Amino acid sequence: MDERSTAIIGAGPAGLTAAYLLSKQGVPVTVFEGHPSLVGGIARTEVWKGFRFDIGGHRFFSKSRRVEDLWTEILPDLLVRPRSSRIFYDGKFFSYPLRAFEALSKLGPFEAARCVASYAAARLRPVPDPRNIEDWTVNQFGRRLYEIFFKTYTEKVWGMPCREISADWAAQRIKGLSLGTAILNALRPARPQPRGEVVKSLIESFRYPRHGPGMLWEACAEKVGAQGGEVRMGRRVVSCSLGADGAWTVEAQCDDGSRESVQARHVVSSAAIADLAPMLRPALSDEASRAAAGLRYRDFVTVVLVLEDRHVFDDNWLYVHDPGVKVGRIQNFKSWSPDMVPDPALVCYGLEYFCFRGDALWTMPDADLVAMASRELEHIGLARPGWVRDGTVVRQPAAYPIYDEGYADRVAVVRDELRRRMPGLHLVGRNGMHKYNNQDHSMMTAMLCAENILAGRELRDVWRVNQDAEYHEEGSEAASAASASRNA
Ligand SMILES: Cc1cc2nc3c(=O)[nH]c(=O)nc-3n(C[C@H](O)[C@H](O)[C@H](O)COP(=O)(O)OP(=O)(O)OC[C@H]3O[C@@H](n4cnc5c(N)ncnc54)[C@H](O)[C@@H]3O)c2cc1C
Repeated sequence: MDERSTAIIGAGPAGLTAAYLLSKQGVPVTVFEGHPSLVGGIARTEVWKGFRFDIGGHRFFSKSRRVEDLWTEILPDLLVRPRSSRIFYDGKFFSYPLRAFEALSKLGPFEAARCVASYAAARLRPVPDPRNIEDWTVNQFGRRLYEIFFKTYTEKVWGMPCREISADWAAQRIKGLSLGTAILNALRPARPQPRGEVVKSLIESFRYPRHGPGMLWEACAEKVGAQGGEVRMGRRVVSCSLGADGAWTVEAQCDDGSRESVQARHVVSSAAIADLAPMLRPALSDEASRAAAGLRYRDFVTVVLVLEDRHVFDDNWLYVHDPGVKVGRIQNFKSWSPDMVPDPALVCYGLEYFCFRGDALWTMPDADLVAMASRELEHIGLARPGWVRDGTVVRQPAAYPIYDEGYADRVAVVRDELRRRMPGLHLVGRNGMHKYNNQDHSMMTAMLCAENILAGRELRDVWRVNQDAEYHEEGSEAASAASASRNA
């Protein structure tokens, strides 16, 4: 057996990146993907009656030159799209990222004064060492702006009070942004920061495949095939067994009920840690099994609605802060790429609902979800009765790994045991590492993992990749993904 041979669980961005880079170097790779036909994982593109849509909308933007270059290598003619997103609150549109003066003037003088006063109070007496989202955001923006622009949406996304959500989430998603930076940006809108950095929430344009993100991952899967690798669809991995000789046997259940297996020296897993743990043989200790089972995920339903295009809004997406409706965000897929709709006279919205598998939203019949989403669109004034022509529903389990109290300790327990007892098993990607991150992070972990497999030793610690896909060498917080690639 080739010492570098690799079985990969999942044909999402992480699994396919690893497969592409390994097969390019002649390594035998087999990718098992549970979805019957679509690659790309959460970054796939669904197609229905000629309409294409993402799970969310997938901006292709990374601070890592290496990731950007890989996207170009896989799909050279990515579109460059302008970003426009707004917050819909109290019947008005507010720019997102917030523009301080616009927000304050639209809120009116009384509310604006309350916001400024509460911001001043937060600056004077910040919560020391903020551990949850509420304290973190109040420190950055003041309590009143937090209540208006963060609380409702964040609680819709996570399904729990902001005080129970770790500040890690806010720190990485709205990193570098505060009312102070928002005001500075309003006064001096030049985007590049000193040292060429960009505040993540403020990116004004991004790349995007003409037919959605799945187009890039389909091109990647084709290249894996052309390089001699295999991507096997409709195969759900059910067990991974480590033999006494150090070889792994990975067994998958096929869509037709049959089983198949491959042997390999390495297993790269982008499956959720909670799903992978019970598949492992020899079995994990009780402590590690409990830790893995304790990891939680937030699920996601997109209700896709087709309407005649009356140009009600042309943003890529809207955040809906109205507590009177369940919808959290609305995508306008035509604004991502006009080729996402088959008829230019029509528009296709994705109304996004955050939920837990098995709850009332998740189990609601599709027709009821389409009716509810249509009503909500009317309720917030973005459609009139009779405008919605058609609709469908896509459910995405485990869209978000949850950062609740204790999640980091649980991940550490599993990691530690895998490192000691499971040589050749590599965790990569979003749910694969329980990291709430974008494609670039998932890809960078897979890139470093491929380097390790090629080198036959752990050159890189994939857990040192930060949310910006930057690789931090031990003791060198300034190291970037670019320098990681130079060091490679
Ligand atoms: C609403 C939303 C919006 C987003 N927007 C952006 C954005 O704008 N830009 C961006 O870069 N990123 C965005 N992301 C994040 C991006 O989708 C993820 O970072 C990325 O898809 C993670 O890649 P992955 O390969 O780690 O995991 P996944 O995409 O989850 O892929 C894992 C794959 O493994 C398969 N799998 C799992 N278990 C098994 C098994 N047992 N056997 C076989 N196959 C299995 C799954 O079917 C899936 O195909 C967004 C995510 C969401 C939810």
